[in-house]
Amino acid sequence: MRRMKRTKIIATLGPASSDRGMIARLFEAGADVFRINMSHASHDVMRTLVKSIRSVEEEYGRPIAILVDLQGPKLRVGSFGAGPVDLVEGATFVLDADKAPGDANRVHLPHPEILRALRPGHTVLIDDGKVRLRVTEAGPKRAVAVVEIAGRISDKKGVSLPDTEIPVAAMTEKDRSDLEAALDAGIDWVALSFVQRPEDVADVKKTAQGRAKVLSKIEKPQAIARLDEIIEISDALMVARGDLGVEMPLEKVPGLQKRITRSARRLGKPVVVATQMLESMITSPVPTRAEVSDVATAVFEGADAVMLSAESAAGKYPIEAVATMSRIAAEVESDQVYRAIINAQRGAPEPTGADAIAVAARDVAETLDLKAIIAWTSSGATGLRIARERPQPPILAITPNVTAARRLALVWGVHAVVAEDAKNVDDMADRACRIAGTEGFGASGDRVIIVAGVPFGTPGATNMVRIAFVP
Ligand code: PEP
Repeated sequence: MRRMKRTKIIATLGPASSDRGMIARLFEAGADVFRINMSHASHDVMRTLVKSIRSVEEEYGRPIAILVDLQGPKLRVGSFGAGPVDLVEGATFVLDADKAPGDANRVHLPHPEILRALRPGHTVLIDDGKVRLRVTEAGPKRAVAVVEIAGRISDKKGVSLPDTEIPVAAMTEKDRSDLEAALDAGIDWVALSFVQRPEDVADVKKTAQGRAKVLSKIEKPQAIARLDEIIEISDALMVARGDLGVEMPLEKVPGLQKRITRSARRLGKPVVVATQMLESMITSPVPTRAEVSDVATAVFEGADAVMLSAESAAGKYPIEAVATMSRIAAEVESDQVYRAIINAQRGAPEPTGADAIAVAARDVAETLDLKAIIAWTSSGATGLRIARERPQPPILAITPNVTAARRLALVWGVHAVVAEDAKNVDDMADRACRIAGTEGFGASGDRVIIVAGVPFGTPGATNMVRIAFVP
């Protein structure tokens, strides 16, 4: 089963899409990765979803990646005594350490470390920025603020602090317990929310111990300030436009999307564009022209994946949303200006054997119009470096490692196949060519190029290319 698009699709699972039949239909429609959002899923629900996805994977014989998204340190106000309150512009409002129910003058902020970190001049956004406060006085037990954007707030509404470096780790106790459960369930990627510093990512990596790859969600100005370091330490990135557009002015989001996508591509780290991509399809079977254009922009930019959130998790048209994304990706990728745009964003190779060989393989394959670039890879790393080149010919990654194959489901253009490891170079070349034929990459007599590392099974040993024929 070969996809006719290079850009991968992540479908978030939820009430509209949690039964096995629906997951299978989403996969058929073009979903390559399924996301389980731990802000909404219990451990039992997560485990059931993992089981269903693995059963779909077995039925179709194609590796599928499972991405578990940790909630992260979501801050919230306390409760109000007599229902929601309306804050008026110019009024004073206090956030404090007092657990008593709130009113129109004050509310409990159940995060003492945040009260200690707030400073005069800092912005406090409540309920995704619907209400905006500016801190005028700050102390360890209370912050006095003036209301800049009026609005209604109610119990447990979310709080965002774009100017304040939050002195807490990106992983809460809940995240740690969710992560352990997800690792035990055998997931492939873990997404970390509200990353602020490289240390946040290092912490998850230490816990994961290689059992899952770590994707950093870029949604805070503090992460933008240290973007290159965060990209360097992360295995993948997400432009999490929902919270990014709360914490930073909305009009900055498109530029940041380009910056994050290009920086990630330069370093060869998979990058996902997420949130509100086909938002109107939550209730409508047809997207807006603007949404189609938004998905197309991400595809033109060479993003590895585009993501559906509520559209597939809780919308009325999950399958139509995946199918729409799939059609947009395929169309853009065959557009006459696509190649020129993609090539213009390609970064220079890093001075490694793997990169030099990836560049050479692309060059040979494009010059000779070969049918595929085949990466014979144990960890998946060779597949990743070839994908970084965004070559014109399709990429086939063959690996003995099912985990590597699943992880590659997130990566631009990679069709991964699990096969027994090769005995020697001839065995590898013979089997690579046969698999290219059976997977639909070429007919008998067509030429392909194979990239591998000898001795086999040694990650990072990419050292050979070979042109061969499909039998
Ligand atoms: C986002 O904020 O864009 C995002 C993807 O995160 P979440 O869906 O967890 O809010």
